[in-house]
Amino acid sequence: MPMIYFVTPTHFRPAQRADLIRLSQTLAQVPNLHWILIEDSDTTSPSIGEILKRTRLQFTHINAKTTSKKKMKYSDPSWKLPRGVEQRNAALHWIRTQFSSLRRGVLYFGDDDNTYDWRLFSEMRTIKKAGIWPVGIVGGLLAEAPTLFDNGSVSHFNALWKPERPFPIDMAAFAVNISLIIDHPGVEFSYSVPRGYQESHFLQGLNLEKFDLEAKADLCTKVYVWHTRTEKSVLEKPLEEKVINFEEADFAPLEAHALGLEL
Ligand code: UDP
Ligand code: MN
Repeated sequence: MPMIYFVTPTHFRPAQRADLIRLSQTLAQVPNLHWILIEDSDTTSPSIGEILKRTRLQFTHINAKTTSKKKMKYSDPSWKLPRGVEQRNAALHWIRTQFSSLRRGVLYFGDDDNTYDWRLFSEMRTIKKAGIWPVGIVGGLLAEAPTLFDNGSVSHFNALWKPERPFPIDMAAFAVNISLIIDHPGVEFSYSVPRGYQESHFLQGLNLEKFDLEAKADLCTKVYVWHTRTEKSVLEKPLEEKVINFEEADFAPLEAHALGLEL
């Protein structure tokens, strides 16, 4: 059975552990999944390592800190800057250096706060080049979904936002065969592309065209992933000031410990 390499950038905020626990309990039930978790921090956090271990999955736990110029404040609107760029690139680098020992499989970029139906994983496992499927609650739509020609190839994307993009789709809408990552060693995410163009930049770099996309999820009629977003937490002043100014992800357990809690 091909392996799924599930790449998750993750950054500290009050709900980080809640989101990671929920995701870890989804992924723990998925066979042949290797979770690559990249913390946006100076070091990896032991408490997050424990979450990974409890899944009993194969995993890689690394860190790649967003350069301070590109790091958003907790209060910034989320669209201000691209998120996860350096973390996803660290995962691509890891994949390329480890490739000789990796199994054939697919690469998927799965953010830590999205919602994944298990059926998504069976769909993506068989991808030869690149697969595509609908994503729920994204881009101002109940779902972004491609429409297909009778022969099953993609004819049109229904995105409302910047529909002129070569691939007007969300990061959660596709997965690619890992062989493409090896065959195109220079391809990575970038801060020098216009807002909303990360997906297009990546897929075009892999030399993919619309007709290469393999329609999954019952010919793109089913939603198996939702771009859910965890509400920003509103905390009482003293805790919030400390938490949001702190850069190390493992501050949360320390803070919790002070409150007599365990995270
Ligand atoms: N992320 C990160 N560093 C940041 C902001 C976000 O590593 O400074 C991660 C985050 O944990 C998530 C992914 O990047 O897994 C996408 O971020 P987010 O969910 O905030 O983006 P949106 O839902 O708005 O696309
Ligand atoms: Mn998100």
